[in-house]
Amino acid sequence: MFEALGDRLTGVFDTLTGRGALSERDVDAAMREIRKALLEADVALPVVKDFVAKVRTETVGEKVIRAVKPGQQVVKIVNDALIQMLGGTLSDDDADMAAVRKSAELNLNAKPPVVILMAGLQGSGKTTTTGKLALFLKDRAKKKVMLASLDTNRPAAMEQLGMLAEKSGAGFLPIIKDQSPTEITTRALKEAAKGGYDVLFLDTAGRTTINEELMADVIAVARIAKPTETLLVADALTGQDAVETARRFNDALPLTGLVLTRIDGDGRGGAALSMKAVTGLPIKFLGTGEKLDGLEAFDAERLAGRILGQGDVVALVEKATALIDEKEAAIAAERMSKGQFDLNDLANQLGQMSKLGGMGGIMKLMPGMGKMKKQLDAAGGMDDKLLVRQRAIIMSMTQWERKNPKLIKASRKKRIAAGSGMDVSEVNKLLKMHRQMSDMMKKMGKGGMAGMAAQMAG
Ligand code: GDP
Repeated sequence: MFEALGDRLTGVFDTLTGRGALSERDVDAAMREIRKALLEADVALPVVKDFVAKVRTETVGEKVIRAVKPGQQVVKIVNDALIQMLGGTLSDDDADMAAVRKSAELNLNAKPPVVILMAGLQGSGKTTTTGKLALFLKDRAKKKVMLASLDTNRPAAMEQLGMLAEKSGAGFLPIIKDQSPTEITTRALKEAAKGGYDVLFLDTAGRTTINEELMADVIAVARIAKPTETLLVADALTGQDAVETARRFNDALPLTGLVLTRIDGDGRGGAALSMKAVTGLPIKFLGTGEKLDGLEAFDAERLAGRILGQGDVVALVEKATALIDEKEAAIAAERMSKGQFDLNDLANQLGQMSKLGGMGGIMKLMPGMGKMKKQLDAAGGMDDKLLVRQRAIIMSMTQWERKNPKLIKASRKKRIAAGSGMDVSEVNKLLKMHRQMSDMMKKMGKGGMAGMAAQMAG
């Protein structure tokens, strides 16, 4: 989503870095470019003005002009200004960063069941997000979660939430026909308390536009439920409309935070970038896909890093540890360091890479890899189907072959190729890759994704 903006800003940095000193003209030109880049990313005008003014003031400061590498200082200034724009309240003091990160988390300190009210327009991803949050709280915070749907106008929406509850392992308040939203709320509070639930999500009705009836319903529910968190779910692809929606919901309902969905889409990012500055509300989560695990706790610092193309090792390592079985990884690492990396191990690695979103997913998250991925794409592509094809080749080998790749002769290669529907040349390519990887791993000592990520991070 933030790719175009990232590219533009990187372009500005490229013209600045490598210079011994910055003249006023350099700074002016850079600020003009930054301003254009933000406007093109659909950031609200007042936010852009503030941003550029702040960056300019700091850039023309004595320290930067006299610095040995002023360009790099500008990168840092823009980075910090971005963090602030995204919701950080940091001063120059980096110690404040920790506080900034924390601010995005949900408040679950009230007496259980803690009520989280979910609001938003129809189609914003509200119901899906409720399911994602349920899974998130269950997995990460070990909470017992109940979901209740208040969408009395749309039985399908209620059933959808029921299915998401089942998938995420959350409890679901049974549907009783013809109850009003407030009646359902009262019942949900009682049942959640009785069942010993820590958290109760109330998924309110979505409408296509904001109207008074919708607001009156939600306000009545909020009065009874006394939510600890009232989250607005907004579609990031709708840009400034999402910001306007948030403003109007916030006028009627004391929101505590936002969830921006469809960050995985290729919008320009303006909603995410101006939301906090315009509404004053913190973005708490980002929706990054249709599936239940497509949710990320919002982290201004990390997102700024991603926009500027400095990658996001934190996200990669987090994701890797969540997905990869630690014990399995330890055994694999041990085998690799001893040079026993066989094709079964390679098949496991390929599987893990697919889980992490394929090569594309991994590279997007790594520092400096954004550019490289683009070059590779231009050169014919990073084909994630390749991972699947390579695994298929290994799957049509016998166990003996997988353990003894060096002994695979031409006749066996032919059989393997036929069995997996590939050419012999592809089997050869795979074997060569395995050879290179096992050599590399022997050198690295420690193997596996975790080891690789650690190497990259270091
Ligand atoms: P609601 O009407 O607001 O409850 O919206 P739904 O939860 O039914 O979501 C509408 C559609 O958006 C569904 O097809 C979801 O799968 C999809 N969706 C929700 N969140 C995301 C997201 O973060 N990324 C993507 N790509 N799709 C999403």
